[in-house]
Amino acid sequence: MIHASLKELAAALAGKKISSVELTSLHLERIVRLNPQLNAFITVDPEKSLAMARAADARLARGEGGPLTGIPLAHKDIFCAEGWLTTCGSKMLSNFVSPYDATVIERFKAAGTVTLGKTNMDEFAMGSSNETSFYGPVKNPWDTAAVPGGSSGGSAAAVAARLAPAATGTDTGGSIRQPAALCGLTGLKPTYGVVSRWGMIAFASSLDQAGPMARSAEDCALLLNAMAGFDPRDSTSLERPAEDYAGDLEKPLAGLKIGLPKEFFAEGLSAEVAQAVEAAIAEYRRLGAVTVEVSLPNMKLSVPAYYVIAPAEASSNLSRFDGVRYGHRAPQYGDLADMYCKSRAQGFGAEVKRRILIGTYVLSHGYYDAYYLQAQRIRRLIATDFSQAFKSCDLIMGPTSPTAAFALGAKAADPVQMYLSDIYTIAVNLAGLPGMSIPCGFGAGKRPVGLQIIGDYFAESRMLNAAHQYQRATDWHARAPEL
Ligand code: GLN
Repeated sequence: MIHASLKELAAALAGKKISSVELTSLHLERIVRLNPQLNAFITVDPEKSLAMARAADARLARGEGGPLTGIPLAHKDIFCAEGWLTTCGSKMLSNFVSPYDATVIERFKAAGTVTLGKTNMDEFAMGSSNETSFYGPVKNPWDTAAVPGGSSGGSAAAVAARLAPAATGTDTGGSIRQPAALCGLTGLKPTYGVVSRWGMIAFASSLDQAGPMARSAEDCALLLNAMAGFDPRDSTSLERPAEDYAGDLEKPLAGLKIGLPKEFFAEGLSAEVAQAVEAAIAEYRRLGAVTVEVSLPNMKLSVPAYYVIAPAEASSNLSRFDGVRYGHRAPQYGDLADMYCKSRAQGFGAEVKRRILIGTYVLSHGYYDAYYLQAQRIRRLIATDFSQAFKSCDLIMGPTSPTAAFALGAKAADPVQMYLSDIYTIAVNLAGLPGMSIPCGFGAGKRPVGLQIIGDYFAESRMLNAAHQYQRATDWHARAPEL
C-alpha cells in the first residue's frame, strides 16, 4: 500500500479493501518510526488525522466519495490549517495555531483528504536545502547525510520515504521542483495565479505559487484538480474555466516539439546531471518528440534579479511579524520599539534577517531605481525570452538542479553557492510560467536527478501529459529509497 498510486489508493478505498483509518494509521506508524531519522514533519496530530479519516470513511460508505476522498496527505507548514500549529519553519510562529484554513487546505478538506501532519521547511521558505528551519534540517531519505533540497524539503522527504502518499509544496524560486529533483519525486509549480495563495504565509507574493509533490505525474494531476481554481480572496487568483489536468495524460507524444535552451547545458552543470537529463531527452525522441535548440539569453540574470525582487517583497511581507498580534514576543523589553526589535531579533533566523536587510536596502529611496526597478526590467526581459522560445517549441526541457543532492552543511556557510542551486528554476517564477520536475536517473551514491519541464502559460495539462508518457516508458519515478 505504501507504494500505491493515488488512483490505486482511491480504488482500494472505494472497493473496501482498506479503510481511510487503516491507510492513515499505516502512514502515521511509518512517521513514528522514521521521522526521528528524517525530521520531515514539524507537527503530527494522530487524533486529528484519525478523526478526518473516520469522516472520510463515513463519506465513502454513503457513496459520496470523490477521487481523493480518504487519501492522507502531508502539508507544508506554510499553509494555515485550522487548529494546527502553523510555524512556517520559524521560531517567530512557533506558538501560532491557525484559526482558519488556507484555500488549498479548504479545498483538500472539501475533497475529503486526511491531513497527516505539517512538514518541515526552510524558514519562511527561504532556502534550497532545508537547513534554515528553526526545527532543524531535514535529511534526504536516499542518503541521510545529504540535504533533501528546499524549501519544501520536509514534503519531499515525507513522500520519498513513503511517510505520505503525496504532499503540498510551494515554489517561489524552485522550492517544489528542486526538492522534488533531489528526492526523486514529481513536483509541479503551476502558472502564477492558478492556485490560490490565500492563507499561504507570504514570502514574495508576486512569485509564490503552491503545487503538488507526488510520485508521478498522474498523482500530481489529480492533486492539481483539487488545488486549482479561482478564489476571490486572492487578488491575483485567475478566473478561468475548470480544467481536468488528468484529461490529456494518455495522448501520444508524436510531433511534440521540445526546446532545449543552450544556456541550460553550459558551464555549471554537473556531469552526472547532464548525463541523466540527456538520456531522458533521448527517451523523449524515442517517444516521438523532436528537439530544437532555443535560447534564453537573459537567464544568467535571473538569480541576481530574483535576489533583489524576492527580498524586497519579503521585507515588506515580514514586517507584520512584530510581536504584537501573533507569533513570538520577547519575554523582556523596555518600550514598544524595544519590544519590536527584540521580538524580531529573537524570532527570525539568520537567512531571514539577511533577506530583510537586502530587501529594505533595495527598496530604500536612494537605491530603488538602481536595484529594484532594474530587477523588474530584467524580469520583463526574461519573460520575453520565454515567449520568444515558445514560438519554436511546445515545451522546454533541461535540468532542474545543477547537481544531485549535496551533503548537509556543504553550502550552508556560502549563500551565493546556495542561491545558485536554483539557477535553472528561478527564471520560471520570474516569468510566472508553470514548471515541473520528474525523476530521470541517479547520480553517484544513488542520489536522484530531476528533469525539468517548462510550459507556456496554462500548459499544465501538456506538461503532465509529457511527464506521464515518460513515466509509462521508464520506472525512475517508481524507485524507492531503502530505509
Ligand atoms: N531557494 C530559493 C530561495 O531561497 C527559492 C525558495 C522558494 O522557492 N521558496 O529564495
